[in-house]
Amino acid sequence: MAEVTLRFYEELNDFLAPALRKTAFVHACNRRASVKDMIESFGVPHTEVDLILANGESVDFSYIVKSGDRISVYPVFEGLDIGPVIRLRPAPLRTPRFVVDVNLGRLARYLRLLGFDCHYDNRYSDAEVARISVGESRTVLTRDRALLQQRIITHGYFVRADQPVEQVREVLARMDLYRLIKPFTRCTRCNGVLEKVDKQAVSAGLQPKTRKYYDEFQRCTRCGQVYWKGSHFARAGHLVAAIGSPPDLTAR
Ligand SMILES: [Zn+2]
Repeated sequence: MAEVTLRFYEELNDFLAPALRKTAFVHACNRRASVKDMIESFGVPHTEVDLILANGESVDFSYIVKSGDRISVYPVFEGLDIGPVIRLRPAPLRTPRFVVDVNLGRLARYLRLLGFDCHYDNRYSDAEVARISVGESRTVLTRDRALLQQRIITHGYFVRADQPVEQVREVLARMDLYRLIKPFTRCTRCNGVLEKVDKQAVSAGLQPKTRKYYDEFQRCTRCGQVYWKGSHFARAGHLVAAIGSPPDLTAR
């Protein structure tokens, strides 16, 4: 056995048993264990980790722990200056695109309503979510730690909040996405891009009251769903208002 002293920082503590939070503790692990496996044995997904120090030196996930090591594990720092940084993760994905796990359907719909590209299908298996994430360079959003522990996933985020609106706020804040909100640009049903369309072009398929009261329409370029400045826009407006401005993360 190798005996190491471990400490997890900031929100990585969310994953730990209460007695292990925000404190250094001694842990006995197998010799030849990689630091990645050791960290994940505590339920902390590797996608949450951005920096690991072994005895003050930055190491990567493949580092084999040795008896007597002091290991410090830091989370993904979003928008915080941590000085000289040696990051474990590949560079952030330039355009934020997501694949959303099956049990977060409302989060996916809300993110689409705000204009974010969210792949979601409630029939996907974990393996399919992982494959889409890697194949299409999409960040996984999930409440399932085991999914994030899949080795092939490089970009993922474990959503802490229970309520969908809070989940949206959390994702936007953690990934610094507030400035990229573009409401009414994406279909909530299929993730397709919306385009403006003449009333005349969609008139035949409208209910009489919709035809009478509304003049501005958009249509999904993928599934053909028609949206108008009625209930859909009002709902999006309420969501944008509920999400408000970025919370002050430094107060955490
Ligand atoms: Zn659509």
